Amino acid sequence: MNIVARVSDEIETPQVSMEIDPRLVPVLETVRRRNPAEPEFHEAVERVLRTIGPVIDKRPEYLEAKLVERICEPERQVIFRVPWIDDEGRVQVNRGYRVEFNGALGPFKGGLRFDPSVNSSIVKFLGFEQVFKNALTGLPLGGGKGGSDFDPKGRSENEIMRFCQSFMTELWRHIGEYTDVPAGDIGVGEREIGYLFGQYRRITNRYESGALTGKGLGWGGARVRREATGYGTAYFAQEMLRAKGSSICDRTVTVSGSGNVAIYAIEKVQQLGGTVIGCSDSGGYVHDPDGIDLPLLKQVKEVDRARLDRYVQERPGARHVAGGRVWELAAEVALPCATQNELDEEDARKLVENGALVVAEGANMPCTAGAIGTLRAGGVLFGPGKAANAGGVATSALEMQQNASRDSWTFDHTEARLVEIMRDIHHSCYEMAEQAGVPGDYIVGANNAGFVRVADAMLAFGVV
Ligand code: NDP
Repeated sequence: MNIVARVSDEIETPQVSMEIDPRLVPVLETVRRRNPAEPEFHEAVERVLRTIGPVIDKRPEYLEAKLVERICEPERQVIFRVPWIDDEGRVQVNRGYRVEFNGALGPFKGGLRFDPSVNSSIVKFLGFEQVFKNALTGLPLGGGKGGSDFDPKGRSENEIMRFCQSFMTELWRHIGEYTDVPAGDIGVGEREIGYLFGQYRRITNRYESGALTGKGLGWGGARVRREATGYGTAYFAQEMLRAKGSSICDRTVTVSGSGNVAIYAIEKVQQLGGTVIGCSDSGGYVHDPDGIDLPLLKQVKEVDRARLDRYVQERPGARHVAGGRVWELAAEVALPCATQNELDEEDARKLVENGALVVAEGANMPCTAGAIGTLRAGGVLFGPGKAANAGGVATSALEMQQNASRDSWTFDHTEARLVEIMRDIHHSCYEMAEQAGVPGDYIVGANNAGFVRVADAMLAFGVV
């Protein structure tokens, strides 16, 4: 059954007004004034403020208590120098960040990103998104984010280690099991978490497993954490289709990126019976009409850490399109799993023209505002990242639970919890969208459901 037809004929394409509620305009103006030259942060705030009108109408006490203003202002931000010595003996200086955005629901929680593009704007946008995402999981998690403009690409193992140690030499005083619990993100995987945790343990003289997540299995890590964000995104897309009486089984799927989130989104889509015909990296994309050969992709990206063009050397039926965007391929489901603003209006137009039914964001804010508008107008179901990629942080919370109880769960048990959490997130978004009078609008659903959880906790705490 064609889902586009179902959406437009039976469910109606969501028709929420994307005009900002006039009562929230001064809040946005203050955010822009206080945080000049931070476009990603402004955009993230604006997108949320445009959609929380329904809940503000129902709960005027939120305005009275200035909760929107308070939620848009980080509780604490730390910027620090990270000096280290490269393999040639030269001193290098990077900048480190940690934004502790909102701790109303639990310790600040969010990843660390090591990438040259990292700056205050990116870290704040990610931290702000994280607050709502973590709230949606229903788990006791506040929101935060951090990282550095350090570029790990081309750096030796020893350089990575020295950088991580220097970074933690400042960060350790701001984090802890009950305070702030960082994890990985772009450029920070299990290897980097290992170096960071090693330095944290050395400085504090405490084996405090709950101070970082994304750890290796042998030293406090959780099963399924590595797979969780990608798996969760595939499960969320499956739930979106299921809500329309359909399934991802036998669907064609494109995935952008070929990093942690992308690889495990591909794995779960394949396990659910879908066919992933393309994936990408920053150099271009691969089209493999027979379906991505996952063991080969893992060898190229996880083991060899090579570029994606290597994949086609071993796979005669596939082609590599240097500089191309994977959204050129016709597919029924699209999962952007690479980076922010990687899917623009033009890409969205191609997806609509090619009959895409569902777009679910594995990455954080990968679709531009223009792209989202085009997808919605084209009747494509859209799952925003703060809901669709929440499986990673949810499984980090499960890692914290296991650390607190000195326990280690099986893969199947942990994955069963992940599935349950993703279904609950889908359900909360779906229900909230219905209550707001825009059935099927997961953006309104996610923003309002997340906002209410955080705002109610803050209301209970008084003005703090
Ligand atoms: P990785 O660093 O493991 O992978 C990122 C991938 O995206 C790489 O393959 C990279 O290619 C590719 N890429 C970067 N820019 C582009 C581009 N413009 N077009 C196509 N591909 C591109 O990061 P993660 O997989 O961990 O994270 C991906 C996204 O998911 C980020 O937005 C992150 O914030 C978000 N996320 C991650 C979570 C996690 O648990 N890891 C949790 C929730 C969200 P190349 O190697 O060439 O740079």
